[in-house]
Amino acid sequence: MADSEALRRAYNACLPRLTEYHTELGQNAALFAACRQIAESPEYARLDSAQQKVIDNMLRDFRLSGVDLDAQRKAEFAEIQQQLSRAQTRFEENLLDATHGWSLHVTDRERLRGLPESALALAADAARRQDKPGWVLTLDIPSYLPVMQYAEDAGLRRDMYEAFVTRASEQGPGAGRWDNSVPMQEILALRSRLAGLLGFDSYADYSLARKMAESPAAVLEFLQNLVSHARPVARREYAELQDFARRSDGVDTLNAWDAAFYAERLRRERFDFSQEDLRPYFPVPQVITGLFEVVHKLYGLRILKRMAVDTWHPDVTFYDIYDRDGNLRGGFYLDLYARDHKRGGAWMDECRIRHRHAGGTQLPVAYLTCNFTPPVGGEDSLLTHDEVTTLFHEFGHGLHHMLTLVDYPDVAGINGVPWDAVELPSQFLENWCWERESLDLFARHHRTGEPLPAALLDKMQRARNFQSGMQMVRQLEFALFDFRLHGDRQERDAAAIQALLEEVREEVAVIRPPAWNRFQHSFAHIFAGGYAAGYYSYLWAEVLSADAFSKFEENGIFDRPTGDQFLHTILEQGGARDPMELFTAFRGREPRIDALLRHSGISTAETAAPGP
Ligand code: ZN
Repeated sequence: MADSEALRRAYNACLPRLTEYHTELGQNAALFAACRQIAESPEYARLDSAQQKVIDNMLRDFRLSGVDLDAQRKAEFAEIQQQLSRAQTRFEENLLDATHGWSLHVTDRERLRGLPESALALAADAARRQDKPGWVLTLDIPSYLPVMQYAEDAGLRRDMYEAFVTRASEQGPGAGRWDNSVPMQEILALRSRLAGLLGFDSYADYSLARKMAESPAAVLEFLQNLVSHARPVARREYAELQDFARRSDGVDTLNAWDAAFYAERLRRERFDFSQEDLRPYFPVPQVITGLFEVVHKLYGLRILKRMAVDTWHPDVTFYDIYDRDGNLRGGFYLDLYARDHKRGGAWMDECRIRHRHAGGTQLPVAYLTCNFTPPVGGEDSLLTHDEVTTLFHEFGHGLHHMLTLVDYPDVAGINGVPWDAVELPSQFLENWCWERESLDLFARHHRTGEPLPAALLDKMQRARNFQSGMQMVRQLEFALFDFRLHGDRQERDAAAIQALLEEVREEVAVIRPPAWNRFQHSFAHIFAGGYAAGYYSYLWAEVLSADAFSKFEENGIFDRPTGDQFLHTILEQGGARDPMELFTAFRGREPRIDALLRHSGISTAETAAPGP
């Protein structure tokens, strides 16, 4: 985070120009005409399918940018874009200000009973920075979440919960100061006008024009189908949780601010282990070698470190990837450890994209970045299982980028892959972090060399699905709310938005929050980010990756023909073909939700449920 007044001023000053530039480029009649000329010439038929896809995508994006509109409507389109980017920025700034506008100073240690040491240290540090004695709690996630999960004082949990779920609204301790009611209404109205201007029935239709899902009806059916499977399980899990709270503390009504607390207790009671217990089995060098071994067995890849490559830090290493035939396919920089002034989180990014030009073919290069704890005192750094999974996830994106055989950057690797399909290769590779056969390649105790004990693996696998029904209905609540909100052209003010959310909860949720909950006022994914009418993508991609993996479960997780098939039909194709076509080519049929339901313990039935 580097937010400051000066940065905001500079950003807001540039924003209109950037928006104007994108609108102008998207509506550039000369470029559009040139592109159409290619599409309509006899030459088009002689292009290969990837080249045709590049042209088709360009034409589509020109149309979605309003290039076909008359002058007056073009101007209206540009004006809407300007207003939209302003309203979205306003939404984000309100949320940020509301989040930072509240904190709680605690001087009585007793109020913090139950908090883990790391959370206490963070709170003490926050107090020190404000020259206060004791502890300061804030609404940033690393401060907020441990309170909800561990603080035994229900009053403290309630205060923090109230401040958190009323951020940027007309409710709670900051009521009305950074209210997103008006920006939300504006954003929705502007999106609706934009969709109408381009001839779409709704913003959801507009959003799907660039996605794998075919129609709003298909998305809604997909989500409803998951609801019907997940909700009964979520209900049962919630009843168990209520029962547990009653037995352990005599709590009669489980409030919204109690759920995470008792869930954490129940989890500890049921699966008596922590991420820390797994660390000794995952020393970094062993995990890296294991990851390379997994993709060697799957796709025949050989990954070799290349010395004498300039990097931005001594921690960073460069690797080359060779395929089964010994051909060099690409390379990547691996930057594993946290350090000062490094951006947090884990991600894969493109350095070079595969590109054929007059002089030959430029091979793809990726950045793979994580923020693991650096090694200290000459000892290897030990990873949690979550961190191992993160590494596999990002490497999955990396393989999609690096193994592409498409020569045109616009549709090579992850480029041109629709938003709701791009997480398939990454979530897919995570599966190899959960199987005995693959874990045995690298999960060994860093001192004794003993493999991961069966009892620990069993606990780990069972804990993976703890309350998975409740987690899924929560995702479904968000996805359905988002999709319906953008699914018609009805004007909605803050009260109508709230009413729609209530309606969705009535159908989906098992936890009903208090009436003053204003979750939607901080739902930045859809109001400020790129997930508008697209939040369903998370679940959609999970279905795809689970179903793809189930083919390996059927044939063996290191079955060579299946591995080769995934390599050739998915990883090498990038965005050059329709993802449904690619998936069907790999799986032999369209995707089904069964595998996801089975993997998450929601259903064990072998019945064929239709998927996306
Ligand atoms: Zn990802």
